[in-house]
Amino acid sequence: MSILSQQIKELFDSQLREWEQAKTNYEALKKVKTRNFSFGSFSVKVQFNPARMHSASAKVDAVSIQERKCFLCPQNLPEQQKGIPYEEEYQILVNPFPIFPVHYTIPTCEHTDQLILNRFGDMVNLAEELPEYTIFYNGPKAGASAPDHAHFQAGIKGFLPIEKDIYPLEKDVIYESGDILIYAVKSYLRNFFLLRSKDKERIKIYFEKLYSLLEIKEDDKEPKMNILGWHVEGEYYFCIFPREKHRPDCFFANDDTQILVSPGAVDMGGVLIVPQEKDFNKITAADIEDIYKEICISDEEMQLIIDKVKQI
Ligand SMILES: [Zn+2]
Repeated sequence: MSILSQQIKELFDSQLREWEQAKTNYEALKKVKTRNFSFGSFSVKVQFNPARMHSASAKVDAVSIQERKCFLCPQNLPEQQKGIPYEEEYQILVNPFPIFPVHYTIPTCEHTDQLILNRFGDMVNLAEELPEYTIFYNGPKAGASAPDHAHFQAGIKGFLPIEKDIYPLEKDVIYESGDILIYAVKSYLRNFFLLRSKDKERIKIYFEKLYSLLEIKEDDKEPKMNILGWHVEGEYYFCIFPREKHRPDCFFANDDTQILVSPGAVDMGGVLIVPQEKDFNKITAADIEDIYKEICISDEEMQLIIDKVKQI
């Protein structure tokens, strides 16, 4: 176990001893209900997690964001919440509203916008230094509940289906050069790209190339995306999910078609989080398929990017 892994595990244990809210929520997580939906060669889990209500329904418009106290700023953290400094710029905190059995939030110390381009290298370093965890990023309009404060998250490996699905999943190599492979995956309900390499620098370089091919929509500061990355047996795996929409239409419905779901990287990794029991009970495989399809980029858009990747 790396020194950093050891430190954050100790932080986790002590926070669960000393911080009532964290203890209660991690205990509650052990009893959450899940449903499993099979889609042939892979499954999607739906997790009924009422503690995520706040995050799923967070108002992320500019006015609401400006009016609320930022919950990731050091001066606003609960008194009991402790952190482990990381690279001077970040601190690693136990997430008090967990989805994973061990779940951390890694915000910057400074209050600054959630943007990935200049921080992707930090994400890759985290994947290397925390090999027991999957590191993830939610873009400011792709599931982040704090779009105004830069942060990553880390969840213990063994929880997200994608970590295992990635191997048998049908995927096309669309670029190969030296020790970098870029795959396009169109067989997983949500279109995404996988960057795979043993070389940390190449992962960074090719992420930047891919980023430059994604569209930045009006009023956005970066292409909408979720990222899931991890390091295993000397190799880096980074899954990039370009997003079409922040939230599906069913989130905003005022009738019984409403499903309160605000997908981020975890949902892209195969665990759909619903904070309301009625949604958990009624959601169907067809709903899941529709939600993914609506929030991810279309096959046509995916193909346009694939064609450009082949030219890089
Ligand atoms: Zn802040």
